[in-house]
Amino acid sequence: MDYRRDFVVRPGIGVRLADIDPGFTGGHRSHDKAKPEIRRHVERMDALQYLLYADGRQSLLVVLQGLDAAGKDGTVRHLFSGMNPQGVSVACFKQPSPEELAHDFLWRAHRRAPGRGEVVIFNRSHYEDVLVVRVHDLVPEAVWSQRYELINDFERMLTRNGTRVLKFYLHISPEEQLRRFKQRLDDPTRRWKISESDYTERERWPQYLEAYEEALARTSSDWAPWYVVPANHKWFRNLAISQILTKTMEELDLKLPPTAVDLADIRRRYHKAAAKQKKARG
Ligand code: AMP
Ligand code: MG
Repeated sequence: MDYRRDFVVRPGIGVRLADIDPGFTGGHRSHDKAKPEIRRHVERMDALQYLLYADGRQSLLVVLQGLDAAGKDGTVRHLFSGMNPQGVSVACFKQPSPEELAHDFLWRAHRRAPGRGEVVIFNRSHYEDVLVVRVHDLVPEAVWSQRYELINDFERMLTRNGTRVLKFYLHISPEEQLRRFKQRLDDPTRRWKISESDYTERERWPQYLEAYEEALARTSSDWAPWYVVPANHKWFRNLAISQILTKTMEELDLKLPPTAVDLADIRRRYHKAAAKQKKARG
């Protein structure tokens, strides 16, 4: 299976989310069967992140979007926790602060964009400004409707500057969302995640899907593609995203930088230092 091909949103064409099964598992029958493949991808991603950091010429921006309880936090935990923290960070985008609101909507996203050699995961992103903002009329339509174009230009600019931009919409069903809300209620370690807005936003499911469909159609581009990932099964979501990330990172042509020093000279210095230490010890 090539999930990049299967799940990509074709630029300008878009998707009907109602036609995509959130419970899809690609013929894999169970988590146990998929586990070795997920582990292989995650290990490869970790190695490629090390190379990306050492290479220091390019960067990776992973955007995670989805409704409440779609699995954004879980994706971060499962797929990125093995990477070297020195080169990886997660940026969570919540309701904008007064300072953020005083700037253009891309300001806070741009500040968190990865520097060369870095991987950054956006847990929610600048897309909230054409999603929640649209659904709640937080700015006039004349304002949000121009943002698709601005987002495309922004992402193209990042791309030309050496950043690979990948965007994932985690697609769950309303039934699965409610099941996860129940788990949050039943599990004391998850209750902190509950918010009243989980339930009020759920009422606006159709408006969110409409906003997502337009965003996916208008901002999936050759340089910054969107992928719609069936996410009712957490393990399948992890499998698909890790495969897409691995394949993409493999293509970056990452290389360890050449040694900057004269190795023969350094070897001589090493032997001299070792001999001196031995002599000092007696
Ligand atoms: P959570 O992801 O559960 O931590 O919730 C973060 C909340 O912040 C969500 O309800 C988002 O919709 C909201 N949010 C994120 N970005 C914006 C934005 N630009 N304007 C308004 N609300 C936002
Ligand atoms: Mg929430």
